[in-house]
Amino acid sequence: MKEITHDHKKISNGITIFQGMDNEGKIYLIEGKTAALLIDTGFGVTDLAGEIRTVTGLPLTVVNTHGHGDHSGGNNQFSEVYLHERAAREAGEALELNKTVLPPDLWSKAEEAYRSKTTVQRFISERFSFDLGGGRKIEVVEIPGHTPGCICLIDSMSGLVFTGDCLVKSMDILLVVPSSLPVTAYLSSMEKLLDRSSRFAGLCTGHDAAPLPVSFLCDAVVCARQIIAGKAAAAPVELPAVYGDTAACRAVFGDASILYRPSKIC
Ligand SMILES: [Zn+2]
Repeated sequence: MKEITHDHKKISNGITIFQGMDNEGKIYLIEGKTAALLIDTGFGVTDLAGEIRTVTGLPLTVVNTHGHGDHSGGNNQFSEVYLHERAAREAGEALELNKTVLPPDLWSKAEEAYRSKTTVQRFISERFSFDLGGGRKIEVVEIPGHTPGCICLIDSMSGLVFTGDCLVKSMDILLVVPSSLPVTAYLSSMEKLLDRSSRFAGLCTGHDAAPLPVSFLCDAVVCARQIIAGKAAAAPVELPAVYGDTAACRAVFGDASILYRPSKIC
């Protein structure tokens, strides 16, 4: 079988995106002067650690935006990974979701990597920051919603914000996975980001190939507000069985679409 790898390209000064299979979370590498930060580790079906070493020789720190297996599957290739404590509990859910999007042979490879317990987990929370040297700091902001353990990361140098799955355009923003919080909690997280957005240069999401404009955050906020107010242009959606309860709705505003449960708005 041909070895699976990621394509990678620079999207900003010192920032590289790694893109692999469909449905795999995007992986970002941020290089400072003295250290580099890897944001998410994909499905874990490639030699990601080897791929990263072709781009940078800087000491590497790894962080997860949340616990889902399309973002944390390759954690076992690294000695330690930073994540929110709640993200560490999203593990079982992550595995089940992976099973629905990976071919059987790759899923068993992902599962094997996933069950490996060699990686040390270091828990981080609001205002923690990674110092990459040369004035480049990456700040952690908690944005629970898609899952309870979601964080985003703000690059002080480029102004880019790494959002994980809380903001995505090429697919729905999912507030329907078993651990998703009510729409009101998601809205609070996005309004917290909106308050700071005058300094943002763009949104590097968990599943889009290029950074989104900050206006996408405004669309998501309005969409969530409309759902809560009962004024959203919403249509019923039947979810796959892996989601448990299969009843959901999709609401759209501007470029943002949110999948949510009418029973879990507040
Ligand atoms: Zn996710």
